[in-house]
Amino acid sequence: MPDYDLKIIKTLEYKRPEVDKGYVDQTLYVNVSEPAIAIKPVDQKTKKVFIGGKGYDLWLLWNAVEPTTHWNDPQNTVCIASGPMGGTPIYPGSGKSIVSTLSPLTGAAIDSNVGGYFGPYLKFSGFDAMEIQGKASEDTVIFIDGIQQQVQILSASGLPENAYDLSTRLTEHFAAGKPRSISVVSAGPGAKNSLIGCLNFTWYDVKRKRARYKQAGRGGIGTVFADKGIKALVVRWDSVTADTNKPADKTALKDVAKSYSREIVELDPKQNEMARIGTTHLVTIMNDHDLLPTHNFRYGSHPQAPNLGQQVYRLLFDPGFDGCWMGCTVACSHGIKDFVPFTGPFSGRKVFVDGPEYETIAGCGSNLGIFDPSTVVELNFYCDAYGLDTISVGTSIAFAMECFELGLINETHTGGMDLSFGNRLSALQLVHQMAAGEGFGHIIGQGVRKMKEIFARDYAADPAVMADIGMEAKGLEFSEYMTKESLAQQGGYGLALKGPQHDEAWLIFLDMVHNFMPTFEQKAEALHWFPMFRTWFSLCGLCKLPWNDIVPEDNKDTKEPAKVMKHVKWYTDYFSAVTGRPAAPEDLVKMSEAVYNFQRIFNLKMGFGRRQHDALPYRAVGPVTELEYESRTERYDTQLQEKCNVATTGKTTAEKLGILREYRQAQYEKLKDAVYQRRGWTNDGIPTVEKVKSLGIDFPEVLELLKAHGVQ
Ligand code: SF4
Repeated sequence: MPDYDLKIIKTLEYKRPEVDKGYVDQTLYVNVSEPAIAIKPVDQKTKKVFIGGKGYDLWLLWNAVEPTTHWNDPQNTVCIASGPMGGTPIYPGSGKSIVSTLSPLTGAAIDSNVGGYFGPYLKFSGFDAMEIQGKASEDTVIFIDGIQQQVQILSASGLPENAYDLSTRLTEHFAAGKPRSISVVSAGPGAKNSLIGCLNFTWYDVKRKRARYKQAGRGGIGTVFADKGIKALVVRWDSVTADTNKPADKTALKDVAKSYSREIVELDPKQNEMARIGTTHLVTIMNDHDLLPTHNFRYGSHPQAPNLGQQVYRLLFDPGFDGCWMGCTVACSHGIKDFVPFTGPFSGRKVFVDGPEYETIAGCGSNLGIFDPSTVVELNFYCDAYGLDTISVGTSIAFAMECFELGLINETHTGGMDLSFGNRLSALQLVHQMAAGEGFGHIIGQGVRKMKEIFARDYAADPAVMADIGMEAKGLEFSEYMTKESLAQQGGYGLALKGPQHDEAWLIFLDMVHNFMPTFEQKAEALHWFPMFRTWFSLCGLCKLPWNDIVPEDNKDTKEPAKVMKHVKWYTDYFSAVTGRPAAPEDLVKMSEAVYNFQRIFNLKMGFGRRQHDALPYRAVGPVTELEYESRTERYDTQLQEKCNVATTGKTTAEKLGILREYRQAQYEKLKDAVYQRRGWTNDGIPTVEKVKSLGIDFPEVLELLKAHGVQ
């Protein structure tokens, strides 16, 4: 007898539509309060303008919420979609799911692009997207069975809390002997008890005979999911071939997919070896360029950083083909077999750890001053099992550690814990506390913005210092790159619609290392093209990594190497081969521009989306403390002399800090001007009526909103 119980409380039988050119043209609506299940058609205009994936999510969410809706209102909706190319097994990186909801951290729409099989299986089961509204009165599982053509809402009791055991249990329960046919989405106790919860999306690893998972990490999506009382989503689908997605031109698809896969197999071993070491190679590269966050983004390098780099993970990762979707030849989703945690509920038990990836290593390692790989692996494991975003966990603990070192908080506030940088036992204890919703960890689990309020209100900590060193913008914690020496990347983070996450723009190397964009106009052009093109992957159900992490051998000799135009052309051919829509490379950017501007207006609807909301903490722009300045005196002195025409001799560090700060903050404001102009926005950062008309997003509600903000 199983030690858990699942009872069906609602069933909808449906007839599964045939997939046609990457779409099924309907979405699934589930309300867990009532409970209710319904199917909604997708009209042609929605399909043309929003494409799929994140575009569909945002449209569904926009229609579900009011400007007054809070993240924990029943009206808030969790939307999940793949995209027209999602579910193609022969083209690398074609199985992503995109999740959106109103974020508990930012109050606006957040989106996360995640691997695992859920999105493609959802589509093949008959739904381009699903939306979940309401709040369940008891633990709930939603089961979408594409084979039996039924959707069920089940009440659940006795299931494990942690996502590691829960996803294994539910895979076994629903598999009917075929575990590869199952994908599970779940959060965990940390998601329930913090604001920085993530979602775990599974796929079944046939070789290792276990459910593996990837995380939709950012913005507290898992927290919303847990707040709705949802224990898990489960989808069941049968086998997948190149035909399952019914591409318009199968021959053209096979040709372009073959070229792409062949190139990756040939070049990855010569370039980044992602099929062997994932994204861990980035640790030493970032460290060498002074870009690896250490000690709450104070510095960009550390002598011990190689302890966390690729040579270690080359030994730790369990070798194997590790694609988070079928047939992805980049195969970068590695893991560690038989890891034995030494703390927490899994202490002494052998577990499989999915990861770590670069962001987790930098966030939970170097940024905390922790250079012991086994602690990073343990933090990675527990964050996933508890449903916590490793990036927000890392950046939030780093902030608390710096506050502790500066004396803004002390052991009477932390419950006796020493939060000095490098204290690995404290970091682990904090994560266990976040999951339990107890102690000082519970406060850290509210994220940096809330911590700043709490520390000022309850501990009399200096708000001005915390405003400078609290690494959040729009309420979201920074992902793990240093931006001080790259104005373009300051824009990449500060102007990102959801908050400082690098998936929208990553321009540090182009700007800082290669100096490819010395003028404001060039930076603005890059801050137009790159966010648009990167957004396109999330409209289509794709992973961005194959685009520019492995590049053609002659790429460096092309006119614009950063764009990897040979690959952009392949993606264009791929899009047309699946959807039957003729397209040129510039059309991909145009598709994204409509959704991107719509999201900016969505921010406006929720009370954000203006110039003031694109602000950055000063630590992202320049050195905050004398210590930081003096760690790189030559660099900053030279800049003052060459860029500000200021003689540095005889000036104190405090004086030089002040002049540099004024200069850099003014540069960032000038960058905003240039970017808003390039994007067709007003000086307050709002899309103009002309812009929204040209993009086909001039819906009556959009025009009314613009008018209410003086744009007409
Ligand atoms: S490149 Fe890596 S993350 Fe992207 S789909 Fe392939 S295995 Fe997954």
